Amino acid sequence: MAITPGDILDTLSELVAVSDPQGKCLYVNEAWCRVFGGTPDQWTGQKLEVFSPQFAADTAKYAGAYSAHGPAHRFEDKFSIANRVCWLEWQQSVAVTGQRTFIGRDITDRKAEELALKAAARNAEAGNDTKMRFLATMSHEMRTPLNGILGMTGLMMDTGLDANQKAYAEAIRESGSALLALINDILDYSKIDAGRIDLEETVLDPLSLAQSVAELLSPRAAHKDLEIATYVDPSVPHRLIGDEARLRQVLLNLAGNGVKFTETGGVTIEIRAEPNAKEGTENIRIDVHDTGVGIPEEDLSDIFDEFAQVDSSHARKYEGTGLGLAIARRIVKAMGGTMSVKSKLNVGSVFSFTVPLKSKAGYHDDRLSCQIHDPVLLVTSSSILKRIVRLQLESANVRTFHVTDNAEEAHNFLNRHRNSILLCDLPFAAQHGKKLSAAASHSLVLLSPVARGRLETFRRIGFDGYLIKPMRQSSLFRRLSEKDIPQQKTERLDSPATAPVTGPSRFRVLLAEDNQINAVLATAIIKRAGHHVDVAGNGSEALYAVQSAPYDVVLMDMHMPEMDGLEAAQKIRELVGTERHVPIIALTANAMASDRDNCLSAGMNDFLTKPFEPPELIGLIEKWASGAANAGSEGPDALSA
Ligand code: ADP
Repeated sequence: MAITPGDILDTLSELVAVSDPQGKCLYVNEAWCRVFGGTPDQWTGQKLEVFSPQFAADTAKYAGAYSAHGPAHRFEDKFSIANRVCWLEWQQSVAVTGQRTFIGRDITDRKAEELALKAAARNAEAGNDTKMRFLATMSHEMRTPLNGILGMTGLMMDTGLDANQKAYAEAIRESGSALLALINDILDYSKIDAGRIDLEETVLDPLSLAQSVAELLSPRAAHKDLEIATYVDPSVPHRLIGDEARLRQVLLNLAGNGVKFTETGGVTIEIRAEPNAKEGTENIRIDVHDTGVGIPEEDLSDIFDEFAQVDSSHARKYEGTGLGLAIARRIVKAMGGTMSVKSKLNVGSVFSFTVPLKSKAGYHDDRLSCQIHDPVLLVTSSSILKRIVRLQLESANVRTFHVTDNAEEAHNFLNRHRNSILLCDLPFAAQHGKKLSAAASHSLVLLSPVARGRLETFRRIGFDGYLIKPMRQSSLFRRLSEKDIPQQKTERLDSPATAPVTGPSRFRVLLAEDNQINAVLATAIIKRAGHHVDVAGNGSEALYAVQSAPYDVVLMDMHMPEMDGLEAAQKIRELVGTERHVPIIALTANAMASDRDNCLSAGMNDFLTKPFEPPELIGLIEKWASGAANAGSEGPDALSA
């Protein structure tokens, strides 16, 4: 007997039915009958009323809309057959005659798997919640005694320990800090892992973001004799909207790694803007270059994975958790951005990330718009300085720019271009400064913060001014333009990286504190109260800072290296500008009355004994900062007399 198409359809595991345009059955196959019961003959002429009302409505809607050759309409439908729930996936097509064909596939098993997966995901999420709560509690519990250990070690270090005791205390502090960093990393990572990264929207200044990260890392870089420098392209809007703290975290991680994994040369942070299709949004691209150990090619693909560390003997000497990059990438991803890396072994690495950020309209800022017409000569052997200064000067349209690490060549250039501005890095300034500055029409020496004390020597040699590294781009431009405006020469040599983006109730506080832990504690307290705070690591940095930016109040630790708090306060009171009137509050672990007298006679206004409670500190800051605002410059002087 010949095989009919019907016989073939009966061998299929799919359910097949054909109806007339009104939905009356013309044909069903065996598989259909196995699910819905009956025989093919019994179904013929019956309404195919097996579908759910939703599906029935849907089939009606699609009837006529499709031709036999058109796309089939797919639909999943749930049936309850003989007390068993089963899922069928239907494919419906409509012929030009209006006849409809239904082909159904049993997907009950697949559905069950999907449901099980969903349930598992729900359970996992609930498990994550518990894990998160546990981690948050544990990390708080661990952090509290750790803060005590760190804080108290810091205080102990202020109490005149001998060299041995100091070394032991330093070791406790360092181990404690490493443990705290680890706890923070793990908590941060699990928070991000649980998808709990809450991004804030604040107004941020990319120039000061880059600069503050460079300044924060600069002592670490200087310790290894590395350069760290920043470049912000003029295309970058001056005010962006994004999560500043998280961006700083990512940038600190990348640039911190740069410093950690580099032995010669240094690190640059470069920010540029790329167009984004969305109006008012920019793709901000940040590149962190280093001239360090590099990463082998085979490790590049998983460097962003959790706990990934390059396992070469070279890299093993560096401590770390291997979580930093994983966290950084997740943060960038949460911001809608991407992160990538390029690296060459023993040459260096470039970690880059791009995030879309809205720009805030209405801010005018000419810190980066500059026109320098004179030739500029940079004398340095640092590839980092060469790269960054070149970028900066190109953006300022400097037409003649020459870089050299050869004193003779430098001299020849200056002789050929008599109106040149000389930028001279410290080693060359020390050796050839006299000759070179005499040949330049304007000369600036580039100093690291620790070499600031040698400023007078360089002035005597013949330099007109100086720039402290990491150089602020705005300061460089200002100092270069000074040549044309000689009366500005004696003005402040640097400017604040940040113009406060705040209302009048926020004060600008300078904290002079050499103890890192105390600085972190006090900074956190002050910031939490909504004030801006800059940290100076010793008295001479504080003295420099008050001349560089207007502060409402200075918190002065007593025992600091290089220049202590008493001397710094005296020197501030001896300044010639209005900055000498800034209120100064002494912070000290010594609670004796004689200390108080010493502070006041050094020109300070008030006195706070450590350990203090946060409200005490904030109360004093607000009292003096607002007092200064109301009483003008009289207050401090009157008291210090
Ligand atoms: P950690 O530094 O705590 O180990 P990270 O996730 O920040 O963790 O980095 C992971 C690994 O990637 C590092 O251990 C190091 O091997 C490698 N790495 C990161 N940044 C650099 C860099 N700039 N140069 C060379 N290697 C790097």
